[in-house]
Amino acid sequence: MEVRILENEDNCLKFLINGISIPIANALRRIMIAEVPSMTIDDVIVIENSSPMNDEILALRLGLIPLKTDLDSYFLPEECTCQSELGCNQCSVTLTLEAKAEESIRTVYSKELNSTNPDITPANSGIPILKLGYGQSVRLECYARLGKGKVHTKWQPVSACTYKYASVIDINLEKCNFCKRCIKACPKNVLKKEKKKITFVEIEKCDLCNECVFACPIDAIQVEKLKDTFIFMIESTGALTAERIIYESNKILINKTKDFQEQLLKIKSGEIK
Ligand SMILES: [Zn+2]
Repeated sequence: MEVRILENEDNCLKFLINGISIPIANALRRIMIAEVPSMTIDDVIVIENSSPMNDEILALRLGLIPLKTDLDSYFLPEECTCQSELGCNQCSVTLTLEAKAEESIRTVYSKELNSTNPDITPANSGIPILKLGYGQSVRLECYARLGKGKVHTKWQPVSACTYKYASVIDINLEKCNFCKRCIKACPKNVLKKEKKKITFVEIEKCDLCNECVFACPIDAIQVEKLKDTFIFMIESTGALTAERIIYESNKILINKTKDFQEQLLKIKSGEIK
Protein backbone atom coordinates (compact mmCIF):
# COMPACT_ATOMS: atom_id res chain seq x y z
CA MET A 1 0.00 0.00 0.00
CA GLU A 2 1.16 3.50 -0.83
CA VAL A 3 -0.24 6.73 0.58
CA ARG A 4 0.91 10.04 -0.86
CA ILE A 5 -0.26 13.52 0.17
CA LEU A 6 -0.96 15.60 -2.94
CA GLU A 7 -2.30 18.80 -1.34
CA ASN A 8 -2.70 19.92 2.25
CA GLU A 9 -4.07 23.43 2.64
CA ASP A 10 -6.13 24.85 5.52
CA ASN A 11 -8.88 22.31 6.09
CA CYS A 12 -8.50 20.54 2.75
CA LEU A 13 -6.49 17.42 2.17
CA LYS A 14 -6.00 15.57 -1.09
CA PHE A 15 -4.16 12.25 -1.00
CA LEU A 16 -3.53 9.25 -3.19
CA ILE A 17 -3.93 5.74 -1.85
CA ASN A 18 -2.82 2.71 -3.78
CA GLY A 19 -3.40 -0.97 -3.12
CA ILE A 20 -6.97 -0.97 -1.76
CA SER A 21 -10.26 -2.13 -3.25
CA ILE A 22 -13.28 0.08 -3.91
CA PRO A 23 -15.33 -1.36 -0.96
CA ILE A 24 -12.53 -0.35 1.45
CA ALA A 25 -12.26 3.13 -0.12
CA ASN A 26 -16.03 3.56 0.18
CA ALA A 27 -16.09 2.23 3.75
CA LEU A 28 -13.49 4.86 4.73
CA ARG A 29 -15.49 7.61 3.02
CA ARG A 30 -18.73 6.60 4.74
CA ILE A 31 -17.04 6.33 8.15
CA MET A 32 -15.51 9.80 7.75
CA ILE A 33 -18.97 11.22 6.98
CA ALA A 34 -21.12 9.30 9.44
CA GLU A 35 -19.06 7.82 12.26
CA VAL A 36 -16.09 10.01 13.18
CA PRO A 37 -17.41 12.03 16.16
CA SER A 38 -17.19 15.77 16.44
CA MET A 39 -18.52 18.25 18.97
CA THR A 40 -21.39 20.61 18.39
CA ILE A 41 -24.18 22.38 20.28
CA ASP A 42 -26.95 19.91 21.11
CA ASP A 43 -29.12 21.63 23.73
CA VAL A 44 -29.98 25.31 24.03
CA ILE A 45 -31.66 26.99 26.98
CA VAL A 46 -33.12 30.30 25.84
CA ILE A 47 -33.20 32.71 28.76
CA GLU A 48 -34.11 35.75 26.70
CA ASN A 49 -34.78 36.26 23.00
CA SER A 50 -36.43 39.45 21.80
CA SER A 51 -35.07 39.07 18.24
CA PRO A 52 -37.43 38.28 15.31
CA MET A 53 -35.79 34.82 14.98
CA ASN A 54 -37.76 32.18 16.85
CA ASP A 55 -36.06 29.95 19.44
CA GLU A 56 -36.16 26.74 17.37
CA ILE A 57 -34.49 28.30 14.30
CA LEU A 58 -31.90 29.96 16.56
CA ALA A 59 -31.10 26.59 18.22
CA LEU A 60 -30.80 24.95 14.78
CA ARG A 61 -28.37 27.64 13.60
CA LEU A 62 -26.27 27.26 16.77
CA GLY A 63 -26.10 23.49 16.19
CA LEU A 64 -24.65 24.03 12.73
CA ILE A 65 -21.64 26.02 13.99
CA PRO A 66 -18.60 23.67 13.88
CA LEU A 67 -16.72 23.62 17.19
CA LYS A 68 -13.05 22.76 17.59
CA THR A 69 -13.18 19.24 18.97
CA ASP A 70 -10.97 17.52 21.53
CA LEU A 71 -11.59 13.81 21.00
CA ASP A 72 -9.06 12.80 23.65
CA SER A 73 -10.68 14.60 26.59
CA TYR A 74 -14.40 13.96 26.05
CA PHE A 75 -16.67 10.92 25.90
CA LEU A 76 -19.73 10.39 23.75
CA PRO A 77 -22.80 10.92 26.02
CA GLU A 78 -23.85 7.26 25.60
CA GLU A 79 -20.38 6.11 26.71
CA CYS A 80 -20.04 8.50 29.67
CA THR A 81 -20.52 7.14 33.18
CA CYS A 82 -22.74 10.09 34.24
CA GLN A 83 -25.69 9.14 31.98
CA SER A 84 -27.33 12.44 32.92
CA GLU A 85 -29.54 14.46 30.59
CA LEU A 86 -27.40 17.60 30.50
CA GLY A 87 -24.09 15.71 30.85
CA CYS A 88 -21.04 16.23 33.02
CA ASN A 89 -17.68 17.91 32.39
CA GLN A 90 -16.42 14.74 30.69
CA CYS A 91 -19.13 14.64 28.04
CA SER A 92 -20.42 18.20 27.75
CA VAL A 93 -19.15 21.77 27.35
CA THR A 94 -21.22 24.84 28.20
CA LEU A 95 -21.20 27.88 25.94
CA THR A 96 -23.06 31.07 26.70
CA LEU A 97 -24.19 33.90 24.48
CA GLU A 98 -25.23 37.32 25.67
CA ALA A 99 -25.74 40.06 23.12
CA LYS A 100 -27.71 43.30 22.87
CA ALA A 101 -28.12 45.88 20.10
CA GLU A 102 -27.65 49.03 22.17
CA GLU A 103 -26.92 51.63 19.52
CA SER A 104 -28.03 50.25 16.16
CA ILE A 105 -29.00 47.10 14.27
CA ARG A 106 -26.22 44.56 14.59
CA THR A 107 -25.27 40.99 13.67
CA VAL A 108 -24.29 38.50 16.35
CA TYR A 109 -21.34 36.33 15.29
CA SER A 110 -20.04 32.94 16.46
CA LYS A 111 -17.03 34.62 18.15
CA GLU A 112 -19.44 35.97 20.78
CA LEU A 113 -20.08 32.47 22.15
CA ASN A 114 -18.20 32.13 25.45
CA SER A 115 -17.02 28.61 26.19
CA THR A 116 -16.15 27.14 29.60
CA ASN A 117 -13.32 25.29 27.85
CA PRO A 118 -11.04 27.62 25.85
CA ASP A 119 -10.12 24.69 23.56
CA ILE A 120 -13.76 24.12 22.53
CA THR A 121 -14.66 27.24 20.58
CA PRO A 122 -16.26 27.89 17.18
CA ALA A 123 -13.93 26.72 14.38
CA ASN A 124 -14.71 29.95 12.54
CA SER A 125 -15.25 33.18 14.45
CA GLY A 126 -17.16 34.97 11.67
CA ILE A 127 -20.30 32.83 11.32
CA PRO A 128 -23.41 35.08 11.58
CA ILE A 129 -25.94 33.68 14.08
CA LEU A 130 -28.72 36.28 14.02
CA LYS A 131 -29.48 39.97 13.55
CA LEU A 132 -30.67 42.15 16.41
CA GLY A 133 -32.79 45.25 15.90
CA TYR A 134 -32.33 48.36 18.06
CA GLY A 135 -32.93 47.49 21.72
CA GLN A 136 -33.32 43.75 21.07
CA SER A 137 -31.26 41.21 23.00
CA VAL A 138 -30.54 37.53 23.29
CA ARG A 139 -29.30 35.46 26.24
CA LEU A 140 -28.64 31.73 25.88
CA GLU A 141 -26.94 28.78 27.52
CA CYS A 142 -25.79 26.05 25.12
CA TYR A 143 -24.57 22.52 25.80
CA ALA A 144 -22.16 21.02 23.27
CA ARG A 145 -21.61 17.28 23.06
CA LEU A 146 -19.82 14.76 20.92
CA GLY A 147 -21.97 13.02 18.34
CA LYS A 148 -21.91 11.23 15.00
CA GLY A 149 -23.03 12.30 11.53
CA LYS A 150 -25.29 9.26 11.22
CA VAL A 151 -27.49 10.72 13.99
CA HIS A 152 -27.52 14.29 12.64
CA THR A 153 -25.45 15.95 9.92
CA LYS A 154 -24.48 18.74 12.35
CA TRP A 155 -21.98 16.24 13.81
CA GLN A 156 -20.41 15.48 10.43
CA PRO A 157 -16.70 16.48 10.70
CA VAL A 158 -16.36 16.83 6.91
CA SER A 159 -18.15 19.24 4.62
CA ALA A 160 -16.92 17.23 1.62
CA CYS A 161 -15.43 13.78 1.37
CA THR A 162 -15.05 12.22 -2.07
CA TYR A 163 -12.75 9.91 -3.96
CA LYS A 164 -12.13 9.12 -7.59
CA TYR A 165 -10.10 6.61 -9.54
CA ALA A 166 -6.55 7.58 -10.36
CA SER A 167 -5.87 7.46 -14.09
CA VAL A 168 -3.12 6.30 -16.40
CA ILE A 169 -2.52 8.03 -19.73
CA ASP A 170 -0.87 6.13 -22.55
CA ILE A 171 0.35 8.14 -25.54
CA ASN A 172 1.55 6.20 -28.57
CA LEU A 173 4.48 8.37 -29.65
CA GLU A 174 5.00 6.38 -32.86
CA LYS A 175 1.47 7.16 -34.05
CA CYS A 176 1.23 10.71 -32.63
CA ASN A 177 1.62 13.52 -35.20
CA PHE A 178 1.60 16.32 -32.55
CA CYS A 179 -1.61 17.95 -33.79
CA LYS A 180 -2.15 19.14 -30.17
CA ARG A 181 -5.93 18.61 -30.37
CA CYS A 182 -5.78 16.52 -27.19
CA ILE A 183 -4.07 19.38 -25.32
CA LYS A 184 -6.83 21.83 -26.34
CA ALA A 185 -9.58 19.31 -25.53
CA CYS A 186 -8.44 18.53 -21.96
CA PRO A 187 -10.58 20.66 -19.56
CA LYS A 188 -8.12 20.09 -16.70
CA ASN A 189 -4.96 21.04 -18.64
CA VAL A 190 -3.31 17.73 -17.83
CA LEU A 191 -1.60 17.39 -21.23
CA LYS A 192 1.19 19.55 -22.61
CA LYS A 193 3.75 19.53 -25.44
CA GLU A 194 7.30 19.07 -24.27
CA LYS A 195 10.06 19.21 -26.86
CA LYS A 196 8.86 16.78 -29.53
CA LYS A 197 6.33 14.78 -27.59
CA ILE A 198 2.98 15.07 -25.82
CA THR A 199 3.30 14.49 -22.10
CA PHE A 200 1.18 15.06 -18.99
CA VAL A 201 1.48 17.14 -15.83
CA GLU A 202 -0.38 16.64 -12.51
CA ILE A 203 -2.09 13.46 -13.72
CA GLU A 204 -4.15 13.41 -10.49
CA LYS A 205 -6.22 16.25 -11.98
CA CYS A 206 -7.47 13.89 -14.72
CA ASP A 207 -11.21 13.18 -14.31
CA LEU A 208 -11.25 10.35 -16.87
CA CYS A 209 -13.54 12.46 -19.05
CA ASN A 210 -11.88 10.99 -22.20
CA GLU A 211 -12.13 14.31 -24.10
CA CYS A 212 -8.52 13.86 -25.26
CA VAL A 213 -9.33 10.38 -26.61
CA PHE A 214 -12.35 11.72 -28.55
CA ALA A 215 -10.29 14.65 -29.91
CA CYS A 216 -7.47 12.46 -31.26
CA PRO A 217 -8.20 11.62 -34.94
CA ILE A 218 -5.70 8.74 -35.05
CA ASP A 219 -6.37 6.96 -31.72
CA ALA A 220 -2.88 7.65 -30.40
CA ILE A 221 -4.00 8.33 -26.83
CA GLN A 222 -5.65 6.09 -24.27
CA VAL A 223 -6.87 6.94 -20.77
CA GLU A 224 -7.72 4.26 -18.26
CA LYS A 225 -8.52 4.08 -14.57
CA LEU A 226 -6.27 2.32 -12.09
CA LYS A 227 -8.61 -0.08 -10.32
CA ASP A 228 -6.72 -0.15 -7.01
CA THR A 229 -5.66 3.51 -6.78
CA PHE A 230 -7.88 6.30 -5.49
CA ILE A 231 -7.55 10.02 -4.97
CA PHE A 232 -9.39 11.21 -1.87
CA MET A 233 -10.45 14.81 -1.37
CA ILE A 234 -11.41 15.75 2.17
CA GLU A 235 -12.62 19.12 3.41
CA SER A 236 -12.95 19.39 7.18
CA THR A 237 -15.53 21.69 8.79
CA GLY A 238 -12.72 22.83 11.11
CA ALA A 239 -13.87 20.65 14.03
CA LEU A 240 -10.94 18.26 13.51
CA THR A 241 -7.95 18.36 11.21
CA ALA A 242 -8.36 16.36 7.99
CA GLU A 243 -5.45 14.11 9.07
CA ARG A 244 -7.18 13.32 12.38
CA ILE A 245 -10.42 12.49 10.54
CA ILE A 246 -8.58 9.94 8.36
CA TYR A 247 -6.79 8.47 11.40
CA GLU A 248 -10.06 8.12 13.35
CA SER A 249 -11.93 6.60 10.39
CA ASN A 250 -9.19 3.99 10.01
CA LYS A 251 -9.35 3.21 13.75
CA ILE A 252 -13.14 2.75 13.55
CA LEU A 253 -12.81 0.44 10.52
CA ILE A 254 -10.21 -1.70 12.34
CA ASN A 255 -12.47 -1.93 15.44
CA LYS A 256 -15.44 -2.97 13.29
CA THR A 257 -13.35 -5.74 11.70
CA LYS A 258 -12.17 -6.89 15.14
CA ASP A 259 -15.79 -6.99 16.41
CA PHE A 260 -16.86 -9.01 13.39
CA GLN A 261 -14.00 -11.46 13.93
CA GLU A 262 -14.90 -11.88 17.63
CA GLN A 263 -18.55 -12.56 16.75
CA LEU A 264 -17.49 -15.18 14.21
CA LEU A 265 -15.27 -16.89 16.81
CA LYS A 266 -18.17 -16.91 19.29
CA ILE A 267 -20.44 -18.55 16.71
CA LYS A 268 -17.72 -21.10 15.93
CA SER A 269 -17.22 -21.94 19.60
CA GLY A 270 -20.98 -22.26 20.12
CA GLU A 271 -21.11 -19.35 22.58
CA ILE A 272 -23.74 -17.67 20.40
CA LYS A 273 -25.99 -19.32 17.83
ZN1 LIG B 1 -20.99 12.66 31.39
